[in-house]
Amino acid sequence: MRGLNNPPVLHWFRRDLRLHDNPALQSAHRRHEGRMLPVYIQSAWRGSHPWTGPARQAALCASLAALEQSLQAAGTRLTIRRGGAVEELRRLLEETGARELYFNRSPDPWGRELEERVEAMARQIGAQVHPFHEVTALPPETVRTGSGEAFRVFTPFARAWLKHEIPAPLPAPGRFAPPPPRLRTLPLPTLADWDLPAPPVVALTGEPAALRRLETFLSGPVSRYAAERDIPSLEATSRLSVDLRWGTLSIRLAVQRCREALAAARSAEARTGVQKFLDELIWREFYMALLWRWPNVLEEEFQAEYRHLQWQPNPAALERWKAGATGFPIVDAGMRQLAATGWMHNRVRMIVAMFLTKDLHIDWREGEAHFLQSLADGEAASNNGGWQWSASTGADAAPYFRIQNPWSQSARFDPEGLYIRAWVPELRGLPPALLHMPPSAPLVPGYPRPIVDHARERAVALELYRRR
Ligand SMILES: Cc1cc2nc3c(=O)[nH]c(=O)nc-3n(C[C@H](O)[C@H](O)[C@H](O)COP(=O)(O)OP(=O)(O)OC[C@H]3O[C@@H](n4cnc5c(N)ncnc54)[C@H](O)[C@@H]3O)c2cc1C
Repeated sequence: MRGLNNPPVLHWFRRDLRLHDNPALQSAHRRHEGRMLPVYIQSAWRGSHPWTGPARQAALCASLAALEQSLQAAGTRLTIRRGGAVEELRRLLEETGARELYFNRSPDPWGRELEERVEAMARQIGAQVHPFHEVTALPPETVRTGSGEAFRVFTPFARAWLKHEIPAPLPAPGRFAPPPPRLRTLPLPTLADWDLPAPPVVALTGEPAALRRLETFLSGPVSRYAAERDIPSLEATSRLSVDLRWGTLSIRLAVQRCREALAAARSAEARTGVQKFLDELIWREFYMALLWRWPNVLEEEFQAEYRHLQWQPNPAALERWKAGATGFPIVDAGMRQLAATGWMHNRVRMIVAMFLTKDLHIDWREGEAHFLQSLADGEAASNNGGWQWSASTGADAAPYFRIQNPWSQSARFDPEGLYIRAWVPELRGLPPALLHMPPSAPLVPGYPRPIVDHARERAVALELYRRR
């Protein structure tokens, strides 16, 4: 089929897998009275990928399946193709005769580079592109210092961010025209398409689940968020990161609902909880704005003075860290939670990241890549921000001389050892105190002795950073 008489326009779904508050989708729908074709181009790599893995791809599959259901309920379907986005979109434009392509922009340099190629292709064949922005509540270049620069420090960024008005979320579009008859589509993606193994746990995701998760969190648990968000044994955080990663939840809706919750809050505790939660969403905005302005942070340290640190490659230690076999119970618990669920508690992400860089002296890029390949919420900007924070090389990072002690961190945030025991079952029978100090003898048969002496490695790290 070539060039339909009354051609639709295309909406290219990418990481905006929802109908509510989707600016590109809404505009295409409104301007063309529902005569639009929603498309998804599935990537064609196989086996392994430097910045994703089974957990995140499984969340993608589940989100696409939910999107397909919503689209069918609205009278259309998702047209799926597999391959390079430039070639596949070109083919779809030609097959349908569509002359307009709508999409939302990506926040990372790989996505931006792809957009440039798609835009060049569209120009070449005389099609119009309509890019929009949705991944952050404010487009990444909006929040600027008095002199028009991007911010390098979180607190003034947050203060300036809060002064901006966030556009109200858009409603989901109404009915869609059906897809052109006989237009080829592929089945919904599965992990087998990328030759990926099934992850042990698949996050319950997709737009309806994301909206429910937001409402449930704001209707109660958020009141305890400020007090309990650092305790990894509690389910005290929102678990919205995967939803924000795949865009099954709009960040503008999340911010709007926070503001409404703030206005309705009846206790100081509830107010503090919502404010703290909003603060975390602003950290996400901050890291996105940093990556937008300084995409080189994916390659090198933000702070130039730390670009020549003498990292100490150690494949055996790196493997033990990944496997959760370092002999530091809190570190091992975190790494095992990551392997088993594709998610790790934020406090523990900081502990394991600082451990890799300051105790093992391994390049933060190794940890950054492992996280992206293991997390369901793997997000280039927040992940890089978190890693460079922990390595003390980032924009607004932990000072290098403030090295967290993994033993005291676990005593402080997991005093009863509930989190450790949940993820390191061989330590279940031990009294909590033994979990938070270097053991004088093996704790239990089969559990390794600590891979390093923290006090000694702390001194080594200080020396490495001083000599930089
Ligand atoms: C080394 C390291 C790597 C990280 N990698 C990622 C990543 O790949 N993807 C990711 O989404 N987050 C990452 N984070 C940030 C944070 O750990 C997760 O966003 C959070 O644990 C997700 O759980 P939640 O949704 O229950 O969080 P909540 O505590 O409920 O927070 C709500 C939302 O705020 C945002 N947020 C919270 N903390 C941060 C933060 N420190 N930086 C940026 N945004 C934040 C997230 O979107 C999160 O969903 C990383 C942190 C560290 C220290």
